[in-house]
Amino acid sequence: MCGIMGYVGELNAVQIVYKGLEKLEYRGYDSVGIAYKDNFTVTIAKEKGRVMDLAPFVKNKSSDLAIGHTRWATHGEPNQQNAHPHCSNQNQFILVHNGIIENYQKLKVEYLSGYSFKSQTDTEIIVNLIEYFALTMPINEAIRKTMSLLEGSYACLVLDKKNLNCIYFFCDKNPLLLGIGKNGIALSSDITGLVGVADQYIVLEDKTFGIAYLNRYSLYDLIGLKINVKPKPILVTAADIDKKTFHHFMLKEIYEQPMMIRSILHKYFIGDEENISMKLLNKIRKCDKINIVACGTSMYAGMMAKYFFEKLCFMPAEVFCASELIYSTPLISKRPFFIFYSQSGETADVLAVMKKVKKQKFPMLAITNNVESSMGRLTDFCLDIYAGKEIAVASTKAYTAMIVVSAILARAISGIKTNLKSNLKGVSLAMEKVLHNKEICLGIAKELTDASDAFYIGRGIDYWVSLEGALKLKEISYIHTEAFPSGELKHGPIALIHKDTPVIAIITQEGTNRIIRSNLTETISRGAKGFVISSKSLSLPEDTFVIPNVAHYLSPLVSAIVVQLIAYYTALLKHNDIDKPKNLAKCVTVE
Ligand code: GLU
Repeated sequence: MCGIMGYVGELNAVQIVYKGLEKLEYRGYDSVGIAYKDNFTVTIAKEKGRVMDLAPFVKNKSSDLAIGHTRWATHGEPNQQNAHPHCSNQNQFILVHNGIIENYQKLKVEYLSGYSFKSQTDTEIIVNLIEYFALTMPINEAIRKTMSLLEGSYACLVLDKKNLNCIYFFCDKNPLLLGIGKNGIALSSDITGLVGVADQYIVLEDKTFGIAYLNRYSLYDLIGLKINVKPKPILVTAADIDKKTFHHFMLKEIYEQPMMIRSILHKYFIGDEENISMKLLNKIRKCDKINIVACGTSMYAGMMAKYFFEKLCFMPAEVFCASELIYSTPLISKRPFFIFYSQSGETADVLAVMKKVKKQKFPMLAITNNVESSMGRLTDFCLDIYAGKEIAVASTKAYTAMIVVSAILARAISGIKTNLKSNLKGVSLAMEKVLHNKEICLGIAKELTDASDAFYIGRGIDYWVSLEGALKLKEISYIHTEAFPSGELKHGPIALIHKDTPVIAIITQEGTNRIIRSNLTETISRGAKGFVISSKSLSLPEDTFVIPNVAHYLSPLVSAIVVQLIAYYTALLKHNDIDKPKNLAKCVTVE
């Protein structure tokens, strides 16, 4: 959610920050702002809307120092006044902030009684606290004092008009990366912002404070002790975050899935042996129950993982919605093991549960696309899903990558030498065939565009893909879509069927083929427009999309491509902003 970008150096900071904000757009935001050194003062431009709305303000401008922000409003509506950067009362300090300050009201009363506020944001408290403390102490101390009072989460960049040759930065529970380039220092919420500007980077630890100058930087902890961290090389390239010839990142990412599966196999297999730490496998083998914790698409991938653990390892597993688990206390077995799924590794709800679990000293594993993330750093064990950078807000390849890695993990835990590897190669080929027939999905999409409601149905693992299909469709087409176990229709949801309501059935399992078809027919008899996505061996001539046969337990990986394409084309026909759907953010960093 939201993004931060800063640069101090020999290159044009205004353009670097502007381009950086464009690269961070995928994270989701509702307003945008930039501040840059302009002779001996600072010029600020901010707008509600898109990064490109700032283009007229930054055109032909140059500077060696700039900070920028994309805001995902938490306090105060998205408007120009609430957009960042925010200035302190005396205009000395200019600040951008990602995160939430939970105790801002209290701090306002306690320290800032004489201050006036121009916005409704929690952020304005931070910049004024810095100004307030800087009256009586050096700026470094003023910032650290401010940090010590803030409760919540933050990643902040600050400019001081009295010292316009550096950027001050500090963070806690909100991602901030420092990039080191030949010509300057950059700061960004994620690695995409650093690509092309820096060659090395440091992921800043919680409660780090630092100062970046043109050719050097320093990092400190909360009490002011210097921290030394070895920078790592940036391996993400400009090509990784380029749309190439695709019109949308989402389509590019859908297309990357067959190849991605082959590269995951490459990473996780040495011959026929899984390349997963024995220590991790033994830890999981010793547990009496696997608890899977995730949100959204990752939670639906987690449902497949549960299936693998139960069917392949004969271990009980349960899937928990992270945002629910934070505030509930389920019965925990004697020897639990926790697995957390998150594409970004920064999902606030998942992180909150991880912290609870960590406190109780239960063993845990994170499965993520970002092993350098807060989750990666918090956990005992971490498995990379190797999906490559996912930019589109609606997740596609991370979903299938999580399922593949879970299947490999389950095989490794079980110790049974199944032919999973060759089955997954078969999945990769089947995905390619589905992509080849993408026109059929366009045909289905044409039937969906005018619908106000749509339904996916299935049973067992087909139901779990239905959940993901419904989520994808609602996320980017804005059509109200729900998924139901087809047997549940008669217990209520069938009342929603009226003339031409689209109902899409997923049928890939022998045992449930006939009954799902009967359930679909019941909806068609009540006016629904029925569509069937079926596996070749179970297909009927009238089925809408016939997918190639693969090992039955891996079919969700193939039907997933179909539901992703249906969502994509429906959104395309509706002229929606596919990669940046309204109200949504790529990584949900607030609870
Ligand atoms: N809480 C701040 C606001 O509402 C920052 C939100 C963000 O992370 O963009 O302005």
